[in-house]
Amino acid sequence: MKITNNMKERMIFSFEIFPPKSHKPIEPLLKILDDLYDLKPDLISCTYGAGGSNAGLNMEICKAIKDSNRIIPMTHYTCIGNTREKIKSELNQYLQIGVNHILALRGDYPKGQRSTGGDFNYANELIAYIREEFPEFCIAVSGNPEKHYEANSFDSDITYLRMKQDAGGDFIMTQLCYDIDQYSWWVERIRRAGVKLPINVGIMPVLNKDVIIKMTLQNGSSIPRDLAEIISRYGDNNEDFKKAGIDYTINQIHKYINTGVNGLHIYTLNNYDDILKIVKGAGLR
Ligand code: FAD
Repeated sequence: MKITNNMKERMIFSFEIFPPKSHKPIEPLLKILDDLYDLKPDLISCTYGAGGSNAGLNMEICKAIKDSNRIIPMTHYTCIGNTREKIKSELNQYLQIGVNHILALRGDYPKGQRSTGGDFNYANELIAYIREEFPEFCIAVSGNPEKHYEANSFDSDITYLRMKQDAGGDFIMTQLCYDIDQYSWWVERIRRAGVKLPINVGIMPVLNKDVIIKMTLQNGSSIPRDLAEIISRYGDNNEDFKKAGIDYTINQIHKYINTGVNGLHIYTLNNYDDILKIVKGAGLR
């Protein structure tokens, strides 16, 4: 079963979680996963710490999702610090535990470095390698509606996105983007550049002021005026902020649906209660 088959028929929705660190217990996340399964997402993805040294319990979590027999698991994977040999061995392990969906990324450079320190320099090279060596993988690639922060221009960033499609990517998963007009503009631009892949849009729920400011700044993303107002008005009161933020997120999901997206990918931040409110409030389930 490939998620892209579902995307041909209808809009899908998926969740993203992050694994506990290697020395931490796995059980609290397994409990959250059990609750998330009940919301019947089409896929759950698990992040991968760049370099693999801090990948934590990524493989164990992917296996637990697979073993639930309820939802398609997807691993994120980066080429930072990874040799061909290591990649081959790890991807074989994913396939052995039944994980055949992968978000193939370059990853962020470690602090102070300007190279991956591995055999591949960019995601398109990793994607080409996976497509060649492991044709059974369904490969997602990243997309940046507000441009990747390192790229000099939209044109170059979109050219590299096209290269990721041509290397064998199956669908796009986007970076968070609160500016929906910008998203629509970007979709038009990438379609004109020949990028035809279906798009699973990243939704970062507005639940905590500090997290929103940190994540947007980290990715070079913008904070539109209506979101800035929520931060100014409710930023000192976590409870009121969250209430307004959940409404904002539901509204954002509706706006995205109206643009005709192929999927919604909700970053859960390993939270269930607020995600439940968003999923129900948006009418996704
Ligand atoms: P690339 O597509 O390789 O692009 C990186 C930069 O190089 C861009 O500026 C691009 O324009 C440029 N470029 C691309 N190809 C070439 C080329 N051939 N020649 C010259 N320039 C090129 N990070 C993690 O560490 N773990 C995760 O689990 C994780 N999950 C993510 C999930 C999603 C949905 C997204 C959108 C991002 C995620 N990231 C994760 C972050 C990601 O690793 C960073 O954004 C990273 O800086 C770039 O990775 P990429 O795959 O987009 O890189």
